[in-house]
Amino acid sequence: GEGSSRVLQTRGLTKHFGGLTATDEVDFALEEGELRCLIGPNGAGKSTFINLLTGQLEASAGSIYYDGRDITELSPHERVGRGISMKFQVPSIYEEFTVAQNLRIPLQQVVDADEYGSRTRKILERFDLLAERETTASDLSHGQQQRLEIGMAMAMEPKLMLLDEPVAGLSVEETADIAELFEEITADDGVALIVIEHDIDFVESIADRVTVLDQGSIFREGSIEEIRADSEVKRIYLGD
Ligand code: ADP
Ligand code: MG
Repeated sequence: GEGSSRVLQTRGLTKHFGGLTATDEVDFALEEGELRCLIGPNGAGKSTFINLLTGQLEASAGSIYYDGRDITELSPHERVGRGISMKFQVPSIYEEFTVAQNLRIPLQQVVDADEYGSRTRKILERFDLLAERETTASDLSHGQQQRLEIGMAMAMEPKLMLLDEPVAGLSVEETADIAELFEEITADDGVALIVIEHDIDFVESIADRVTVLDQGSIFREGSIEEIRADSEVKRIYLGD
């Protein structure tokens, strides 16, 4: 049936901060291996929505279903264990550690010690970091650091990965590399991605569908062509 490949669904998901409603009864659904971009003006509630999915924030009302189960009450740690992975806006790599040491941090949470070696190598190959294995993370290029972070998130073998502005500050070439990585992660590994993104050209290069948030609610959902042509979407951006 239609719901069989659905990896994520929210119903009436709501978050209040005092008198402010940052997420307002959001009904959202995502299919396995889908890449969805989340756009909207500053303060629209994009980061809040993502933080509700990871469990960093507790919902005020509504439910989150993941992989067919209600996960609304699960802790962030339990959600990671079920395969929800987050790559933060703020770099989460340890700059003084080597690439291999960084990868060990997530791997320790999911596999036995005798598997570290083989799993680390697999990720290094996949993310084109084999030659940088013993390099201190602070000595990597910005693009390599981004690949390491995504590799760390992928080490958890997620079914759903959430990314808040993953290409902010990257060069055109590095951005193209990330777009290609996303294509592989979704198509080959079947991982669903939700990507918060400002750069509409990058959105166009990666997204299957786009969700526009405004004032905590879903304002529009559709293909990038539909969203780009929508004068009301233009209006909420200009009105910001
Ligand atoms: P976006 O990521 O789309 O820019 P946010 O989710 O960060 O939007 O914020 C949505 C609204 O919620 C904004 O009005 C913001 O000021 C408010 N907000 C976000 N986090 C908090 C918080 N921890 N406490 C109070 N208000 C918050
Ligand atoms: Mg934000």
